[in-house]
Parts: sequence; structure tokens; C-alpha cells
Amino acid sequence: TPRVFSGIQPSGNLTLGNYLGALKRFANSQNDGIESIFCMVDLHAITVWQDPAALRHATRELAAGFIASGIDPQKSILFNQSQVPEHTQMAWVFNCVARMGWMKRMTQFKDKAGKNAEQASLGLFGYPALMAADILAYHATHVPVGEDQKQHLELTRDIALKFNNDYGVEFFPITEPVIEGAATRVMSLRDGSKKMSKSDPSDMSRINLTDDADTIAKKIRKAKTDPEPLPDTADGLEDRPEARNLVNIFAALNDQSVDQVMQEMGGKPFSEFKPLLADLAVEKLAPISVEMARLMQDVAEIDRILTDGSQRARAIAHPILRQTYDIIGMVPPV
Ligand code: ATP
Ligand code: MG
Repeated sequence: TPRVFSGIQPSGNLTLGNYLGALKRFANSQNDGIESIFCMVDLHAITVWQDPAALRHATRELAAGFIASGIDPQKSILFNQSQVPEHTQMAWVFNCVARMGWMKRMTQFKDKAGKNAEQASLGLFGYPALMAADILAYHATHVPVGEDQKQHLELTRDIALKFNNDYGVEFFPITEPVIEGAATRVMSLRDGSKKMSKSDPSDMSRINLTDDADTIAKKIRKAKTDPEPLPDTADGLEDRPEARNLVNIFAALNDQSVDQVMQEMGGKPFSEFKPLLADLAVEKLAPISVEMARLMQDVAEIDRILTDGSQRARAIAHPILRQTYDIIGMVPPV
């Protein structure tokens, strides 16, 4: 039976990239009746230092972001990773399955560690093993994510395959990444070669789900572009990363294909296209940010939702961890 799992780090403000690449699509599986498990991956967030008060706030606000984006905590399981110890227990097993060489090829580690990899935390290096544990502790079959997580999901499959092979079992499923839509990789508004990220130091590089209408309009107005008007068709966007990014965002926000957007917008100068994009972004995002703010007024309720979700998550993950321990030869409690 299919089971969906995905996670988001409480490592800053939710961005338009998180919304279009992940959150907006999460509600689909839930509404299709597929069992869906969504995690605030707080233990991933601390692979780079987080201010404790800010982390706690970001975790609750992330939960509010999930709910405001249409995830129903009754239908789906919504919880934070640190409340379910099976994630780290499973991650240890996978640390012993994954190979150093596999980890060294991970481009996210290289991007995040930068030039000074020796100073990166061991956790940042091992991040993909914890991510594999997040997914496989639920025997999840489908993982909706943005493009940037493709490599980590391939590693998850490699870990599952190697475990099954090493122990001669067919225990862990080979998980399918689900990367679809017009905005699987939303780019920075300041640099068309970098993805939009909540941990980017420049606030102008991204649209936050908590930004007000004026801020959204200003960020889009100032978004980097080339001086030419939009091309007539989608083909003309190929070598124009900034223009393509804005068109992709428009398409994803408006549930249109890029070709449909170009039929209407082709040939327009940015001075005309940007205000239309800003209006659309405000129209689609304002209700979410209003709902997030409303939910954040009752933090105790959010904490109850996460606690309840964690108990339901644990009921699934605990037996899978016990079976894993059994397969690898641990003596169980009597
Ligand atoms: P950080 O900078 O701390 O890594 P992030 O913005 O990359 O934050 P994550 O928590 O790492 O967010 O990722 C959460 C989900 O959002 C993942 O499914 C990821 O693929 C997706 N995602 C992140 N950035 C983008 C983006 N720019 N476009 C589309 N999807 C994205
Ligand atoms: Mg990320």
C-alpha cells in the first residue's frame, strides 16, 4: 500500500520555494486518500547552529504553515522529528550501511559546507542517512520533494537496497521520489543560478510565506532580470534563467502550464509582467499567511497537534525499528 512521507526543516521562514516545491503538493496526496506523514525535521535543522528560541518558534510556525497550506492534522500525521526517537535510532543503523564515498558525493553537503568542509558538523555530513531513516522508518513508498532533494532520495534507495542485500531480506521498500509541477526548483530572486532557500542570508532573495503584500510586491519588482521583454514562446526562456524562474512561479501559482502562461504573457516587458506576478502572488499567499498568523495565536494547540501526531507516527515507526533490530541481530527485551 502506498504511504507518503515528507519533511521540512524549521531552519527559517518558509519560502515560496518550499510552498510550490513541497507544501502545495502535500495536500494532494492527503486529499487522494493516501496515508500521508509530514515531519518538522528539527533534528536536521541543527546540522547547522540554530538559536534555540528561534528554532522552537520556527518549528511551531512550520506546523502552522502545513495546516494553512491545507494539510489536515486529523487526516494526515503532522509531527516533529525529535519526539519520535526511532528516527535517530534508525539513522544509526543506516550510518553503518551507507558508505563514506556515497556521502562525499552529495552536492548539498558541498553547497552547505562551502569552502571550509573541515569545519562542518558531522551531522551535516551524515544528514542523508537521517533522511533515509525518516522515510524508511515508515516504509514510505512515495516522497514528494523539490528537485534539490533528488540526490538524497537516490541515496535512500541505495541504502534500502544495500540493507536488503546485506541481510538477504526484502524489508525496506525502494522509495519513489515525486518531483512534479512547474516549480520543482524555484530560484533565488537575486541570482538565477542559486535555488531559493529559507537559510539564504539575503531576505531579498526569497518570498517568505509571512511577507505582507507590500514586501512581496517590492521583492518581485526588484527581482533580477535581463533587460529584454519576455520571449513569445517558452522556447525563448531556455537561456534566460531569471525570466524562466518568474514564469515558472507564475505558472505554478496559477495552476497553469508554462505554455499557457506564455500564450498570455509572451512579449510583455517586465514592467508589465512583474506587477501581474506580484498581484497573483499576493492573491495566493495572503490567505496562507493570515491563517498562519491566526494559528500562531494558540501555540498550545499547535503543541497538542504535534504531540498527537508524534504518538501516531511512533506507533508506525516503532515496530519497523524492532523488526530492523531483529534482522541485524540485536537481542530483544523479554
Ligand atoms: P534550507 O536552506 O535550510 O536547506 P530549504 O528552503 O532548502 O531550507 P528544506 O527544509 O531543506 O528547505 O526543504 C523542504 C522542502 O522544500 C524539500 O522538499 C525541498 O526539496 C523543497 N524546496 C526547498 N527549496 C526549494 C526551491 N527553491 N524550489 C522548490 N522546492 C524547494
Ligand atoms: Mg534545503
